[in-house]
Amino acid sequence: MQPETPTDTAISHALAVQELRKQYDKITAVDDVSFQVGRGEIVGLVGPNGAGKTTTINMVLGVLQPTSGRIFIGGIDIARRRAQALERTNFAAVYAALPGNLTVEENLTFFGLLYGIPRLRARVDELISEFDLKKLRRTKCGLLSSGEQTRAALAKALLNRPQLLLLDEPTASLDPSAAQLIRAKIRALAAHDHCGILWTSHNMIEVETVCDRVLLLSHGRILLEGDPKSLPQEQGSASLEELFIRMVR
Ligand code: ATP
Repeated sequence: MQPETPTDTAISHALAVQELRKQYDKITAVDDVSFQVGRGEIVGLVGPNGAGKTTTINMVLGVLQPTSGRIFIGGIDIARRRAQALERTNFAAVYAALPGNLTVEENLTFFGLLYGIPRLRARVDELISEFDLKKLRRTKCGLLSSGEQTRAALAKALLNRPQLLLLDEPTASLDPSAAQLIRAKIRALAAHDHCGILWTSHNMIEVETVCDRVLLLSHGRILLEGDPKSLPQEQGSASLEELFIRMVR
């Protein structure tokens, strides 16, 4: 039996993952991975298709049971105090669209009720304004463009003022201008609200711009870790993209 008391590292970080593993029969999707996301830190999780990024995120979100390993959110072990750990967390992903038959406002209200947000109407108004959704508040989410859906999904992800935010390719469907605005918002969230952010992306220029630290995952293992601005040079590559391709091949 694992000791209940979290380590100092787990307590001081928004997320601490210790020797996390997910085994599917003969496939090891995540292979004893350990890493942390600090409070106010943006960590990029990058890797080729099938590297284990989504599996890792789904275990942190509590929707997939790890084969072994531990996950602490703000020092709380999700295996022992799941509800408390997950109420500090939120996520947005292109594959997890908001229910299309509800309007933007109905979706935010619905999720706000699920999270038990106090003064919900004011919080919904605040987020609608912050994500430039005023004209779309009564539009069904299924009718929104992909960029608009991303803004609505991010507004939903911030409802509970999470301490840990998981973003799976948040800018994948955005035009360059919309993507830049979203990146600025996420950076501000980390800087001002001290939210820890785990960000997956296949866009290495974006990772270099946004992330404080990058983890390169391949075949379920972390191959490299460091500051995305200095790591390529330290490893003898001209750019993060070149380093990524060299490591993965
Ligand atoms: P992508 O960039 O393509 O989204 P990823 O890094 O998110 O990839 P995962 O979706 O985490 O990769 O998949 C990791 C590995 O685990 C892959 O080899 C995948 O085929 C395998 N895998 C994922 N889910 C299952 C499952 N339910 N059963 C068996 N294998 C699975």
